[in-house]
Amino acid sequence: MGIRDWGLGIGEGHGRSQFPIPNPQCLPLTMPELPEVETMRRDLEALADQAVVARVQVLDEKVIQGSARAFARGLKGRRFVSFGRRGKVLILGLEPQAGRGLVTAPTPDVVLLAHPRMTGHWLGLEPEHELSRFARVVLHLDSGRRLVFDDSRRFGRLELVRGNCDDACLLRNIGADALQVDEAALGAWLSRKRVAIKVALLDQRGVSGIGNIYASEILFRIGLDPRTPSCRVTKAEVAAIARETERVLGESIEYRGTTLMNYRTANGDQGAFRRKLRVYGHEGEPCRRKGCGGTVKRIVQGGRSTYFCSHCQRTGRRRR
Ligand SMILES: [Zn+2]
Repeated sequence: MGIRDWGLGIGEGHGRSQFPIPNPQCLPLTMPELPEVETMRRDLEALADQAVVARVQVLDEKVIQGSARAFARGLKGRRFVSFGRRGKVLILGLEPQAGRGLVTAPTPDVVLLAHPRMTGHWLGLEPEHELSRFARVVLHLDSGRRLVFDDSRRFGRLELVRGNCDDACLLRNIGADALQVDEAALGAWLSRKRVAIKVALLDQRGVSGIGNIYASEILFRIGLDPRTPSCRVTKAEVAAIARETERVLGESIEYRGTTLMNYRTANGDQGAFRRKLRVYGHEGEPCRRKGCGGTVKRIVQGGRSTYFCSHCQRTGRRRR
């Protein structure tokens, strides 16, 4: 892996990790979901708002969507001005650095999209911190701080687009954000699907941002069997899904996400929501719903683990 540097100088020493990979928890390997990406978004805003990218190092071109050279040239000299997100995709706006006497451009002219996929995350490193061996892209800020896209499994992607980002590769087939679910649209979409509701909730074309952990948690909280065919989910259940999605994801954001094997926030720490999970990772334990008496089971749906209680999670009896 060669170090590419399109910046003001050549790449510096590529030392080993300041932040070792955390000890594997009892949770299976899983990936960042909306709360983790929202936590990254907030951390990045705190770390980089109004910072100028002085230099760009692409250590691994695989994580760049399109030309790495154009990516680096497009970012250099621009200032971070907005920090958005849709589902699990970060949408970071940059504008040209205003020179003396120049008026700052009113809107971002370049957008940096970042999809963490399995193990991607951002770290904010001070000058004394060393890069991990999984560092893929380093943005040197004018403050001396570095923003590092770190990704052990290299499925994460960064994409730089000019102007409108609606046509960006990373936003193709991404539905409405899970924190802004439109019940009617979700109901209409589910009514056309024949797959199990758990599988449908993971399909980012319907709702973007719900992943494997939260899909199990949401369905447990509303008492719906994850094997229920999507087209049989009732209107009342759609409303409950929308409500609990917002509640569960909102709570998790407050706790800075869930502790996952390969996920850390931009400050290098781990999310604390794991302790709040009611079914995910609790196979064989008594169901936590008061008076249920059932046992949490694990099944595999669409190649992914689903945790649920078959005693209190039922298929809706009412048809729409
Ligand atoms: Zn139960």
